[in-house]
Amino acid sequence: MMNLLSQSLQQVESRIREAERLAQRETGSVSLLAVSKRQPDSAIREMAQLGVIRFGESYLQEALLKLEALQDLQLEWHFIGPIQANKCRDIASHFSWVHSVDRRKIGERLNNLRPAELPPLNILLQVNISAEANKAGCPPAELAQLAADLRALPRLRLRGLMAIPRATPDPEAQRSAFRQLRLAQERLQREGHQLDTLSMGMSNDLEMAVAEGSTIVRIGTALFGERV
Ligand SMILES: *Cc1c(COP(=O)(O)O)cnc(C)c1O
Repeated sequence: MMNLLSQSLQQVESRIREAERLAQRETGSVSLLAVSKRQPDSAIREMAQLGVIRFGESYLQEALLKLEALQDLQLEWHFIGPIQANKCRDIASHFSWVHSVDRRKIGERLNNLRPAELPPLNILLQVNISAEANKAGCPPAELAQLAADLRALPRLRLRGLMAIPRATPDPEAQRSAFRQLRLAQERLQREGHQLDTLSMGMSNDLEMAVAEGSTIVRIGTALFGERV
C-alpha cells in the first residue's frame, strides 16, 4: 500500500511540476490538496508520512472522526463540501480553510463561530462558474457583492475563489471555465481584495487548471485510487 501511494503521489507531483513548466510558472507555485473524503485513516496517515500536509474533506461527520483519529499529526485541514448552517460551528472550530463559502449567511456564521484562540479562518468563495441549475456556488453576477459583504468580517480571511466546473469532454470548454474563474478573481483584485489563492483542478483536469492560474489543485482519485 505504501508503495502504491508513494507511486501515485510521485505521479501527481510530476504532473503538477510539468504543468507549471509548460505554463512557465515558478516551480512550487501550485500546491497539492489531497482530497481524502471516503478514504480510510490509514491512507491519510501514509500520505502524511510521505510528506503531504494539506488534506481536504467534504463530509463533516466523517471528517470529524478522522481529525480526532489523526490529531497526533500536524495536518492542515480544508473543508471543501457543501455547508449547511447547522454545520458551521464544527467547521469553524476544526478547519484552517473552507473552500465552499457561497452565501453571506454562511460566511457570517463561520465568522461568528470561529474560536477566538484560533487565527482567522481562511475562506474561498465557491463560484458556480458554469452557471448550472441546482449546483452549489455563488452565481458569477453576485460574486462582487458577496466578497464585499464578507470583507469586513474580522474572523475570516478571504483568500480567493474555488470552482468545480461542469465536466465536459471538450478541452476548450473546460479550459474556458477555469479562465472565467481566473478573470473573476482578477476583477475582485481590481476592486481591492487581496487574493492569493485560486482553488481549481482535480484528478482529471489539473493540467488545464494550472495553465489557467490555479494555485491549489484538489486531488482525490489520482492519489488514493477509487473512493470506498
Ligand atoms: C471529491 C472532490 C475532489 C476530488 O476529485 P477527484 O476527481 O477524485 O480528484 C475535488 N474537489 C471537490 C470539491 C471534491 O468534492
